[in-house]
Amino acid sequence: MPDNKKVFSLPLFLGVDVGGTNIKLGVVDDLGQTVCYTKFPSQADQSPEPTIQQIRPLIEKLLSEQGYSFDDVAAVGVGTPGPMDIERGRLLTPYNMPGWHHYPIREKLQSATGKPVTYTNDAGAAAFGEYWIGSGRQYSSMILITLGTGVGCGIIVQDVSIDGAHSHGAECGHIIIDTSPEALICSCGKAGHLEAYASATGIVARAKSALCSHPESTLNGSNKESSPLSALAVSQAADAGDALALELVKETAEYLGRGIATLAHIIDPEAFILGGAVDFGGDKTPLGRSFLDGVIAETRRLIFPVLGAELVVNFAKLGGDAGFIGAAGMARSQFKKSASL
Ligand SMILES: [Zn+2]
Repeated sequence: MPDNKKVFSLPLFLGVDVGGTNIKLGVVDDLGQTVCYTKFPSQADQSPEPTIQQIRPLIEKLLSEQGYSFDDVAAVGVGTPGPMDIERGRLLTPYNMPGWHHYPIREKLQSATGKPVTYTNDAGAAAFGEYWIGSGRQYSSMILITLGTGVGCGIIVQDVSIDGAHSHGAECGHIIIDTSPEALICSCGKAGHLEAYASATGIVARAKSALCSHPESTLNGSNKESSPLSALAVSQAADAGDALALELVKETAEYLGRGIATLAHIIDPEAFILGGAVDFGGDKTPLGRSFLDGVIAETRRLIFPVLGAELVVNFAKLGGDAGFIGAAGMARSQFKKSASL
């Protein structure tokens, strides 16, 4: 969040984090410090044009309140949900943004702001934010895995986001962790993917199927129309000592460990960072720390000992700000590369 006492280092970079519910806008300085920030509803079922047009005037006003002008902004970075075509600078068909389908966002934002625009996946942007100034800042390669409604992922190796040939290079939520006939179905429609087990949606699905054989669990009280079962309810019940909820958290750690083991063998990054709302309290709580220990133990059990000895898994630091900070950071990285040519 903005801090008026800070001295900011020019040039500035604008990050735009487009989500199905909100658009978060933030200007950060050359060190990643937030100069100003705002957010507004994305109105994802309508044409994006009015939304894109209001970004520059809004930021000009916020910057002038801080004693800066839009001329101080060197470049813009924008992240959106997939599927997308990064090379062509356009969204494809994100299911929760029907009004934005096939929108050429890079070109439109470039003409609306008059600045060069770097376009990326929202999870890649969040990963870059953690890599630049968050939990990954001391590492030259890292993977951010976000546990929320789904499982998102961004892979950064030496300043570069691994986007792949078709803009879907870091879809780690769809790593296959279960090939049995009973495997859970993922939101993408395929069976046995990590997201079907370790996301909030997956945790609720596993909790519901376990409840009938655990009538003693306090989660039965949460599974009503007035208070539907949620990953947060599972976390709170586990915190209060409910045996079924604790088992669900332990299993979530194990499923995530399987996904991380696969990634460790493919990418061998210096660190894995866990972000998103499903953190079981994070490193400030015993439950969160035991979840993290469970992830590390299961990963170590499955990977080469040499990788296990070096394994680092930590919680993310930037929360919901990671997306706009990382989008701005990627724009900065691109800007510096262009300037040095
Ligand atoms: Zn899937």
